[in-house]
Amino acid sequence: MGETVFVLVLNAGSSSLKFNLFDMANEDSIAEGNAERIGLEDGILACTILGDKRKETLPLPDHKVALEFILERLQAAVLHDTPIHAVGHRVVHGGPKYGDSVLVTEEVIRDIEHFAMYAPLHNPANALGIRTAMTAFPDVPHVAVFDTAFHHNIPDHARIYGIPYDMSQKYGIRRYGFHGSSHSYVAARTAILLCRPLRALKIVTCHIGNGTSICAVGQGKSMDTSMGMTPLQGVIMGTRCGTIDPSVVEMLMEYEHLDYNGITNLLNKQSGLLGISGVSSDFREIEIAAENGNDRARLARDLLTYNVRQYIGAYATVLDGLDAITFTAGIGTHSTFVRAKVCSKLNFLGVKLDHDANENGTGERIISTPDSRVVVTVVPTNEELMIARETIR
Ligand code: AMP
Repeated sequence: MGETVFVLVLNAGSSSLKFNLFDMANEDSIAEGNAERIGLEDGILACTILGDKRKETLPLPDHKVALEFILERLQAAVLHDTPIHAVGHRVVHGGPKYGDSVLVTEEVIRDIEHFAMYAPLHNPANALGIRTAMTAFPDVPHVAVFDTAFHHNIPDHARIYGIPYDMSQKYGIRRYGFHGSSHSYVAARTAILLCRPLRALKIVTCHIGNGTSICAVGQGKSMDTSMGMTPLQGVIMGTRCGTIDPSVVEMLMEYEHLDYNGITNLLNKQSGLLGISGVSSDFREIEIAAENGNDRARLARDLLTYNVRQYIGAYATVLDGLDAITFTAGIGTHSTFVRAKVCSKLNFLGVKLDHDANENGTGERIISTPDSRVVVTVVPTNEELMIARETIR
């Protein structure tokens, strides 16, 4: 075995800790897994190490214990005392300050905790994950990679909201955007599929999963994106409402007697595909129900594809042209229906889908016809690899 460069990528949630171990000497994924139900006696640790899958039920009182179990498994199966070179952390919100990945210091952790004002569900858990890992690996560099960073330099007019300017400035209220590692990864892969330099391309990247965001990528940079100050804005999602008239919030608070937590929970956890269909937030279940004639499931499915089409149209205008549309994430990668439906009314832009390639291929590929003016691609995302690359950089 040649020289290994192990990079551990961590993604800490409030009750979960996802991990990936890469050997960055050749960008090989060595192990991945997830500790779930942290805080409970019957926590679950699922790991795939060198292709070997395992699922265990264990007491996981906190993130520290979860990380210790993960390291024990990695140590026994692959590390064998080979040191980890660095740890990369996925951090959801970098606030107004972080437009790039950063080497973690105490100040960085405090900033991440402070930016919980924009991402109350994610940033505190991300910061906790970093503190835990820094205790376990005190002597290696830790790098924070922000979901917001790719969108840091979108033009002012694309990120300002129409509220009093002083308040935008005072509180940092503006569009930040998310899924940055995913959008930048799939845009770069699309350029490779097209055999053209990324800088020369106008691409709309569609990350359609449990969370969904669309991004206008021009000259390799994010020019606009559908999510906003928080991941609630934009396209309808699994349980998030997407863009709605802000007056709906006031009305529901008054008529349903909801306080701040009540309305936050309703818009983040009970809305979107789940809220409209009443069936599920899981798109596979929506598709089955829709095929079986469930009208509300059809409505939810139709709103999703309609929203994605709306953004593609808008972003072709933002970019003043369009070379490629890229589909990624769980729904974008797997749902032939969603891709076909989204592309069906984009003829005016010069989009011609190759239905055979859309329905029958797998993995990274072009799914438009050779004479389509806009190339349509499917690119399974790899946010973890992007975080590992950022950590090395
Ligand atoms: P993600 O957040 O990227 O993991 O995506 C999760 C979403 O992808 C869920 O709504 C899943 O139902 C959906 N998904 C996963 N596999 C498929 C599939 N084969 N067909 C349709 N949707 C899928």
